[in-house]
Amino acid sequence: MTHILVTGGAGYIGSHACKALAQAGYVPVTYDNLVTGWQDAVKFGPFEQGDLLDRARLDEVFAKYQPAAVMHFAALSQVGEAMSEPGKYWSNNVTGSLTLIQAAVDAGCLDFVFSSTCATYGEHDNVVLDEASPQYPLNAYGASKRAIEDILRDFESAHDLNHVIFRYFNVAGADPEAEVGEFHQPETHLVPLMLDAIDGKRDGLTVFGTDYDTPDGTCIRDYVHVCDLVDAHVLGLKWLEAGKGSRVFNLGTGSGFSVMEVIEHSKIVTNRVVPYSIGPRRTGDCTRLVSGSIRAEDELGWKPERSTLETMITDAWRWHQNGNYRK
Ligand code: UDP
Repeated sequence: MTHILVTGGAGYIGSHACKALAQAGYVPVTYDNLVTGWQDAVKFGPFEQGDLLDRARLDEVFAKYQPAAVMHFAALSQVGEAMSEPGKYWSNNVTGSLTLIQAAVDAGCLDFVFSSTCATYGEHDNVVLDEASPQYPLNAYGASKRAIEDILRDFESAHDLNHVIFRYFNVAGADPEAEVGEFHQPETHLVPLMLDAIDGKRDGLTVFGTDYDTPDGTCIRDYVHVCDLVDAHVLGLKWLEAGKGSRVFNLGTGSGFSVMEVIEHSKIVTNRVVPYSIGPRRTGDCTRLVSGSIRAEDELGWKPERSTLETMITDAWRWHQNGNYRK
């Protein structure tokens, strides 16, 4: 059995990745400190509690499972918090990832899949971003992820660490079988906040700014289904196994939707009213982030089949209504 070390496997994207890995015949070993993750989301392989900054614990886990590769999801990821407490992001995300990467290299585990972000690009008006677009992150979250990308490149030069970097756009949706789904505490993401507002778990959604330079004044994002996203990770792992070398891939669909368009689709999917009010801009938000995913489709053979707004909201709504194990 081939073990894959999945950091952050108890979180939203990591838990979906564990399911996809198990379905592809791997054994996903979750390594998670449970600060933002949930142990009951670890359903598809062994669980090892531990922190990225704990080198001795990492060494123990590498020795126990001898994983063939690492999939590294564990990170702090709230833009607002990153603006007010950047030190947490540099310590946990950058120093933590450096500790993990060094431990992997020292254990001889030289295939590494890293979850980066479109937040590394920052503001680029009215362009579809490709992997060569300049990276000017607007916040410490994006900056921390960009720094980890640099660490991976240096470790490739010095230690032959093969890596695939995925720069995600906006991840939404849930496992269609509702075994795992999205639950952050606190929640900051548009789709789960909106579904909470729709079924009365929150007073209402605040739309962060209607004065952006977009057709309806609200920010535009490229939404990708979490299941499509993790399928790309399995393809990325196979890419590394085939010895194809290090590569960066954007994961988005090439289609941008405004906050108001997401609200409109949600009304249709749920057949409910979306209670919302208009608020000021949120610090650190870019006007428009839209990806080209041509490279992932051409080179990895990735097909984002569930990434329509309708399917993402339908799957998230099913999870929200039936599968949310922390109701
Ligand atoms: N957004 C919003 N109200 C909220 C949460 C998010 O208007 O309560 C907007 C946010 O400004 C952005 C989009 O929804 O334009 C997606 O935000 P999210 O936090 O889900 O992802 P991000 O783009 O920050 O990665």
